[in-house]
Amino acid sequence: MSTNGWVAVAGLGPGDEALVTPEVMAALAEATDVVGYFPYVARVAERPGLTRHASDNREELDRASHALDMAAQGRRVVIVSSGDPGVFAMAAALFEALENGPVDWRDLDIRILPGITAMLAAAARAGAPLGHDFCAINLSDNLKPWPLIERRLRLAVEADFAMAFYNPRSKSRPEGFAKTLKILQEACHEDRLILFARAVSTPEESLRIVALSEATPEMADMRTMVIVGSSQTRLIERAGGPILYTPRSTG
Ligand code: SAH
Repeated sequence: MSTNGWVAVAGLGPGDEALVTPEVMAALAEATDVVGYFPYVARVAERPGLTRHASDNREELDRASHALDMAAQGRRVVIVSSGDPGVFAMAAALFEALENGPVDWRDLDIRILPGITAMLAAAARAGAPLGHDFCAINLSDNLKPWPLIERRLRLAVEADFAMAFYNPRSKSRPEGFAKTLKILQEACHEDRLILFARAVSTPEESLRIVALSEATPEMADMRTMVIVGSSQTRLIERAGGPILYTPRSTG
């Protein structure tokens, strides 16, 4: 396929413009089209020559096919995700569309431009809770069965990982996070610290650190990143708020 079109899947970071990489800014400056979930597309400023295509959250595969189609016609397309596009976001959706789509699409210029994922932005605000081994789990059971999530939670506790949870709780899945807390409270032999970091790097940002035994489902919503410490994660108390950190070694 001979075309000058391309597709870049770009991460816009957690919210603050200062956390968008120069590489992503450069791709957006060259783009003819921006595609994505409407709140993310809204974060890209309008300008002449740029068409913004906003869609609903559940339309990832259609959105990816649309982007590949436009690139095949010579357009310069940026698909936007929040955070990093490879973390529970559009990069994998794009490759699913590529794998199942016309073989010509494989000749296209496709680039994934990393961004600062919510887990890292939240961890940085609180201190260094991910300073030792950790895992990241998407708590949404839209694309995987709940028993698998439950199994991973129990094994992560057994392995004494710190855990970062994406998509902890939504209106359509009100029960999942309550079940998650119950599993963790049962599985952990000792109490843990848990961070609720909401809307990190936006004007609505709020951080809260509580003991796992005191955590309640209402402490999280869809804009919250939840980080559960390992058995070693601790607080350094100081005026102006504690620092949450996990030392680099155990034992
Ligand atoms: N690709 C994104 C994650 C998409 S899943 C990334 O790398 O960050 C969406 C989930 O990310 C939300 O439910 C929430 O758990 C988390 N999230 C995204 N932005 C956030 C922010 N600014 N503050 C806290 N959590 C955030």
